[in-house]
Amino acid sequence: MSTVTTTKTSQTAVLTLDHAPVNGLGLALRTALTKAFCDAMADAEVTAIVLTGAGRMFCAGADISEFGTPKSMQPPSLPEIINMIEAAKKPVVAAIHGNALGGGLELALGCHYRVAVPGTNLGLPEVSLGIIPGAGGTQRLPRVIAVERALDMIVVGKPIKAEKAAELCLVDALAEGDLVEAAVKFCQGLPEGADALRPTRAREDNLEPARDKPEMFEDYRKAMARRARGLDAPYAAVECVEACLAKTFDDGLQFERDTFKRLVASDQSRALRHAFFVERAAAKIDGLPKDTPARKVESAAVIGCGTMGGGIAMNFANAGIPVTVLETKDEFLQKGLGIIAKNYAASVAKGRIPQEKMDGCMALIQGVTDYAALGEPDVVIEAIFEKMDAKKDVFAKLDEVTPPDTILATNTSTLDVDEIASATKRPEQVIGTHFFSPANVMRLQENVRGKQTSDKTIASTMTLAKKLGKVGVLVGVCDGFVGNRMLHAYTRQANFLLEEGALPHEVDKAIFDFGFPMGPFAMGDLAGLDVGWLIRKARAKEKPNNLRYSPIADRICEKGRFGQKTSAGWYRYEEGSRTPIPDPEIEQLIIGVSEELGFERRAIGEQEIIERCIYTMINEGAKILAEGIAQRPGDIDTVWLYGYGFPRQRGGPMFYADTVGLKQVYDVMRALHDEHGDWLEPAPLLKELAEAGKGFGDL
Ligand code: NAD
Repeated sequence: MSTVTTTKTSQTAVLTLDHAPVNGLGLALRTALTKAFCDAMADAEVTAIVLTGAGRMFCAGADISEFGTPKSMQPPSLPEIINMIEAAKKPVVAAIHGNALGGGLELALGCHYRVAVPGTNLGLPEVSLGIIPGAGGTQRLPRVIAVERALDMIVVGKPIKAEKAAELCLVDALAEGDLVEAAVKFCQGLPEGADALRPTRAREDNLEPARDKPEMFEDYRKAMARRARGLDAPYAAVECVEACLAKTFDDGLQFERDTFKRLVASDQSRALRHAFFVERAAAKIDGLPKDTPARKVESAAVIGCGTMGGGIAMNFANAGIPVTVLETKDEFLQKGLGIIAKNYAASVAKGRIPQEKMDGCMALIQGVTDYAALGEPDVVIEAIFEKMDAKKDVFAKLDEVTPPDTILATNTSTLDVDEIASATKRPEQVIGTHFFSPANVMRLQENVRGKQTSDKTIASTMTLAKKLGKVGVLVGVCDGFVGNRMLHAYTRQANFLLEEGALPHEVDKAIFDFGFPMGPFAMGDLAGLDVGWLIRKARAKEKPNNLRYSPIADRICEKGRFGQKTSAGWYRYEEGSRTPIPDPEIEQLIIGVSEELGFERRAIGEQEIIERCIYTMINEGAKILAEGIAQRPGDIDTVWLYGYGFPRQRGGPMFYADTVGLKQVYDVMRALHDEHGDWLEPAPLLKELAEAGKGFGDL
């Protein structure tokens, strides 16, 4: 349903937007609003108009599923409606609750006044979708609140609460009690006739002081440079606010409209919108009935309080769920709990959380060393060392001591979830919950379904991810699951590039410039090089015929260089600094390995680095899709966006592949395979799609 209902009270027409769930301003609602508004204007009895929203909110903005479709441009357009409201000869008051976001706030800005319920979110979050407000937001907001504050709201996109909005004069009155009653009362308090009209376009008072500070915009650009690296929309937003000062209102609107149209058609915005949609789609599990019951999680346990266990326990406490952590010895337990306390204290010191929040969370975390003290948790997450035998012992024990319906999850990053499950008599209740480090910060939760994992366990674990504030993605069992399997393909190529002629800082620069927060070598130093070294040594024993990998990383570890923790790894680090500095010793080591292996070193450009590292990762993604390890390409993108910092403005590896064109990716892979053989064989799915002129998005 998409309607606008009109009621009349004390000569005020109350127009209610009604388009569940968020009153998105699609074509049907825009048409209904125009009609209802014109009727109210034509009604001689009506002296004022209140505009409000049905359900949970005022309005969350444009209907983004219409973006880029003819419907979005079909009249009445949102800018036209807002102009009409602003020009009305009867006062119009927006009565806001829940959310007034994006086009919703722009609509409210076109009204002459705004009354809001305390706690309401008001914001212009368009930049997060690679666009700017396109219905006058960049021209009206700086006319309503101080230009500096308007810049923050438009460029950063973070909503503010109604209380703050009232301080800034974005909201004229806070509604205690019934919102519509308060808005009608507000109308009655307005002066008679034309004095009650306050078109935003005519307001100049906030613009005047800003005109004296033209340097403000340059300063703002400098200050946001790091945060906005590689992004177009935040810079375009600054330009629009600048135009608000320099141009007439109508010219400013036109400038905003042109900018909006350019951005909405850009690859960046398409990628950011893709990221928005696939994250939501990841919550849907193919073949899982919608009404699959999810087990309530009101208590939890974590086994092992090391790097990951501690962070996972914090996730539960942050969500208000009591959690018991179990360690083998009191000494390890105290160490783990100490680190948790230190992490919370650091957040308090930075002003991110109040002391009471820390105290509350710490009170929810209980440490034990005995399984008998584990209680009756709804879910247990195991995060002990990465050793199969040890994990199986833990699961056998958990199977004995926990209630029969407790979900048993493992945080393993490489081991076979099915084998772990075989240690229990309830394999249907065993699942992988692969958190990323630092577990209390990183948003990804890769949920790994085993062969026997039940629908209920899957539904419960996906719901749990949401409760913990994580983005849950369901994957299947394979070596490294989705994320680390693709990461392996990528870092392996990065290492081969060193043998052939590149240096770590060159590879890292290309990857950083592509948009990642850091390249593979800086990341290796951050994570610690010893972990991978131990895994490689163990695997060499288990599977001696494993595919070749470059010996350089092992040689570096043999020197006792494990990354940042030893102030030396792929790079060297000055005392107390985390800044990687290229090290001539490593350069010599790399050159030596090239000679040993018979490589004639050559210059390797940025494009080749991207192709070798990113295309091979995409190729692995195609294999993962064909094997059914990931449900859909968008799930792979979500894993990479939230687990590995893949640049969001490129949409994730599979979306990026489609923007480059699969033919291009396939041709490069084929050429690489001809030259190097090995893992570089193009995935059959990649070949098939490329030859059919299709993309992953067509699947
Ligand atoms: P860690 O060495 O920091 O911590 C492991 C903890 O488990 C130690 O405190 C140890 O005392 C405890 N422990 C060992 N055996 C135990 C037992 N039988 N009962 C109770 N406690 C026991 O290791 P970590 O980095 O936290 O890794 C834990 C798990 O998470 C591993 O499976 C690892 O593969 C996985 N993982 C690690 C990362 C990472 O970046 N560190 C990321 C994702 C997943």
